[in-house]
Amino acid sequence: MAATGSQSAGTGAGTGYGGGHRIGIDLGGTKTEGILLDRQGNQLARHRVPTPKGDYDGTVATIRDLVARLEGEVPADGKATVGLGIPGTISPATGLVKNANSTWLIGRDFTRDLAQALARPVRIENDANCLAVSEATDGAGAGCGVVFAAILGTGCGAGIVVDGRVLGGRNAIAGEWGHNPLPWPADDERPGPACYCGRHGCLETFVSGPAVAADHLAATGETLDAATILARAADPAGGDGCRATADRLVGRLARGLAAVANLLDPDVIVLGGGLSNAGLLYERLPAAMQPWAFSDRLDTPVRRARHGDSSGVRGAAWLWRPGEMPTETPGG
Ligand SMILES: [Zn+2]
Repeated sequence: MAATGSQSAGTGAGTGYGGGHRIGIDLGGTKTEGILLDRQGNQLARHRVPTPKGDYDGTVATIRDLVARLEGEVPADGKATVGLGIPGTISPATGLVKNANSTWLIGRDFTRDLAQALARPVRIENDANCLAVSEATDGAGAGCGVVFAAILGTGCGAGIVVDGRVLGGRNAIAGEWGHNPLPWPADDERPGPACYCGRHGCLETFVSGPAVAADHLAATGETLDAATILARAADPAGGDGCRATADRLVGRLARGLAAVANLLDPDVIVLGGGLSNAGLLYERLPAAMQPWAFSDRLDTPVRRARHGDSSGVRGAAWLWRPGEMPTETPGG
């Protein structure tokens, strides 16, 4: 391809970030998604590939290849910035990944290894924080001062944004709602299922997709995924078993979110992840939360993520904000 500008990149070989392109990568438990945005935030390209579970080097290679593919499709004047959302946290103390349900990342210097593989600095944030940034900026939480955003998917994470900025916390665990215990448990909810974090009864073991499927299987003997269960629960002909499973989920989410309101009292609660497509959650959660809130009325709206499945990947791309681009390397 003929170059008309000073430099035709697209292979990642160019220096500088003059094109203003941003890549966001959302590393999920089962899939890894990449998006390429232009300077204004318009999507130019997008791809989804399987996550190589349990394979750290494979994960680094997958991200490297995804970035190369995105850049190769839409050549720009220089490199794109890369932001990454992961189901975990970079420890402020060590710089290593911690608290990841993609456990093969734990203890790895993912920031360094990716920077090496991609030949540029990389910003990594918890995937739920990426969701919260995306939704607070131009999504379901736009215009709200305090946004609490939760991902109900393979796992269960959450992020807090205050006045447009992530509230990460001293230990980078602010918003780790999924590993608080289910509040006000009934006798048959104690001690609760075992969690990968080593405890029992974490919210994640009740309200993530696999948890809902396991709960349904235990109650009915039926093997169904969570999305199917919730779709059938909303269908009058869908069956009592699915409705009962949805009732248990709504009750548990309501207690978990009421506890958030009692502590943080956010202006809006935004739900993302696979389970967030279930309309019954938005119809039923506000009323179901009320009895558990320390308030005679609870006006907190519960909204579906506006950018849907794109929220995490868009938030990752916007980890490099205007004016925060990496220092440009002189061309020599
Ligand atoms: Zn846990």
